[in-house]
Amino acid sequence: QSRTPLTDLSPEALADFAREQRAAYDELVAKGLKLDLTRGKPASNQLDLSNGLLALPDGVTDASGTDTRNYGGLQGIAELREMFAELLWVEPEQVIAGGNSSLTMMKDTLVDLWIWGGVDSPRPWSQEESVKFICPVPGYDRHFTLLAAFGIEMVTVPMNDDGPDAAAVARLVADDPSIKGMWVVPTYANPSGAIASHEVSAALASMPTAAPDFKIFWDNAYAFHHLTEDEAKSADILTLASAAGHPHRPFIFASTSKITFAGAGVGFLAASTENVKWWLGHLGKGSIGPDKVNQLRHAQFFKTAQGVRDHMTGHRDIIAPKFAEVQRVLRERLGGLGVATWTDPTGGYFVSLDVLDGTAARVVELAKAAGVALTPAGSSFPHCDDPDDRNIRLAPTFPPLDQVTEAMEAVATCVLVAAAEKLGASA
Ligand code: PMP
Repeated sequence: QSRTPLTDLSPEALADFAREQRAAYDELVAKGLKLDLTRGKPASNQLDLSNGLLALPDGVTDASGTDTRNYGGLQGIAELREMFAELLWVEPEQVIAGGNSSLTMMKDTLVDLWIWGGVDSPRPWSQEESVKFICPVPGYDRHFTLLAAFGIEMVTVPMNDDGPDAAAVARLVADDPSIKGMWVVPTYANPSGAIASHEVSAALASMPTAAPDFKIFWDNAYAFHHLTEDEAKSADILTLASAAGHPHRPFIFASTSKITFAGAGVGFLAASTENVKWWLGHLGKGSIGPDKVNQLRHAQFFKTAQGVRDHMTGHRDIIAPKFAEVQRVLRERLGGLGVATWTDPTGGYFVSLDVLDGTAARVVELAKAAGVALTPAGSSFPHCDDPDDRNIRLAPTFPPLDQVTEAMEAVATCVLVAAAEKLGASA
């Protein structure tokens, strides 16, 4: 529908608008809502899709005849590594199947680089004068808090619709040897939903870097998490990097956290065979082997790589209507008013909402006072610092559909109240 942008309203019309929205907001507060759009967690009926796991494994030996109940098998059982190698387009010997969290594997990788250095490092990262990482923004908050814990300086670049701004990254890494790595969430990024294009991925894989041991932490957490039939295919970063002469640059991470059970899935790492050997060498100091029983039941549950893809359509059926509802409410309530833009992802777990500059924290505060919990403003930026105070991450998967509607109506009202306040003040 065509509407007048708020900035084009006369001062009187804007004052009327502000009063209406404030009245709507007061009604909202009176309702005493208790809603939560903060974290990207699967809903319980999504978890139910994998309840078959609870009756598995059938038997305790893996395909090689190994008793999975015992110690050993540090790299993970072969049949599950083969399945995810096919899904991630790598070779089975390049895959490690680990414990229940890929984030832990990311942390371990960083710890190992820090203490010992990588296969191509002149020295441990801890012995460098300074270590910096490139962080596409908006991005995943836990990536940033991990780096912050190490005192690693975070250099931001824009996250575009086709992935990180590759030209900006190339300029930064070309002559600063202290830039040791970068994050990439290549498929349905958290929070924008962007998909890194083949061109962007190839550029990141091949760009010259001043650091000889530059690493791409390729976190493919949402590789198979499609919301439409237009299924994104992530670039084959290992092949791209080795073809460009940088075989040890990428570390790929993935997990079944949002495929089976978020708290009891299987995490995966894939990298060059040298990197895999390096990683297992360090892992072996603290582990005699992963939970192979859980790996076996996952392998039996899915049967094949196609089994994983088929399983994901069950998730899509549950969460696609929630994402559609987020779009509907945003469009109907905020469309054409010039107060917000938002992403319409074709996969993943989030919608990224940009409100008027300087109002995101106010929107989150208003929502909180009305009983709607949103991720704190700035969460998708290093040190929680959104320089424009404009970005809000919406996570609609966990609440039931009717609560998504109610929460989004409330969010829209808060966006409008904050916008009217801001425009009124500057009028
Ligand atoms: N990476 C990204 C981009 C995520 O959004 C999440 C979950 N929110 C994770 C990693 C966590 O993965 P895991 O459960 O395998 O530790």
